[in-house]
Amino acid sequence: MARKLAVIGAGLMGSGIAQVAAVAGWDVVVRDITDAALSRGRDAIGASLGRFVAKGTLAEADAEAAMGRIATTTELEAAGDADLVVEAVFERLEVKRELFAALDGIVRDDAVLATNTSALPITSIAAATERPERVVGTHFFSPVPMMPLCELVRGLRTSDEALATAREFAESTGKTCVVVNRDVAGFVTTRLITALVNEAVRLHESGVASAEDIDAACRLGFGHAMGPLATADLTGVDVLMHATENIYAECRDEKFAPPELMRRMVDAGELGRKSGRGFYSYEER
Ligand code: NAD
Repeated sequence: MARKLAVIGAGLMGSGIAQVAAVAGWDVVVRDITDAALSRGRDAIGASLGRFVAKGTLAEADAEAAMGRIATTTELEAAGDADLVVEAVFERLEVKRELFAALDGIVRDDAVLATNTSALPITSIAAATERPERVVGTHFFSPVPMMPLCELVRGLRTSDEALATAREFAESTGKTCVVVNRDVAGFVTTRLITALVNEAVRLHESGVASAEDIDAACRLGFGHAMGPLATADLTGVDVLMHATENIYAECRDEKFAPPELMRRMVDAGELGRKSGRGFYSYEER
């Protein structure tokens, strides 16, 4: 019998998670607050499945079957019979805590509650429930149907069993998992990328090397697909500054303090691709 997944939040990540789960054979119910958000999520899934079909990597019948396994609802109670719930709502601790407290009263006693948070402490989210040992982080990457990694994060009380359930789910969707044993700010991936970006910015601001050469060094010397400054432009200089500030606030390690140039770029609205200018210019000539 297919197992049942509830996804809370039909945005970029929630729709991606619902899609890969449905393709893997899970029965999925997606909950969002409005019908409009659900319909946007459904459209995004349909478009993404269509791209796989067009590329020839997914049979049309399988795409249709996957779509048929996804139900949508505005009722949280629909999560009541799920084996696993994956939450992908706004990245705000209070929103997530409120949701987890409500879910705790709705889902089965043996259900596992997972959060897709990229940075918030799993322990604080879990503490909003009476089952902190059954709460775990499943940090998928964007775009979910393309990115092969899932970072599994333990809160202070997360049980081995809950971690195993999360791993089984992520692996069933074709992802490879890495385990983060303590929910330190930034987990593993955000800590690594912010440390690298910060050092790249410092080398650039102190005139040691140009942005192009720093990025080329990482691409050609280390085989990175993209250099750290181009990555900052793609992710958003403001997004990375916010991430590194949060890590710095927790650990006070100077390598996570946002470099001066990064702060000035954010002040100036040079946020990367989305603003047309960051470490590189994306303005039409
Ligand atoms: P998004 O803004 O695209 O979607 C969030 C959705 O949650 C919206 O549709 C909103 O209506 C819905 N929502 C809000 N409160 C809700 C509630 N109580 N019940 C049901 N739905 C609710 O956000 P996103 O980019 O998909 O991010 C979701 C989570 O995933 C965040 O925690 C984020 O940090 C994390 N994340 C994002 C990325 C990324 O690249 N965007 C990558 C990894 C992790």
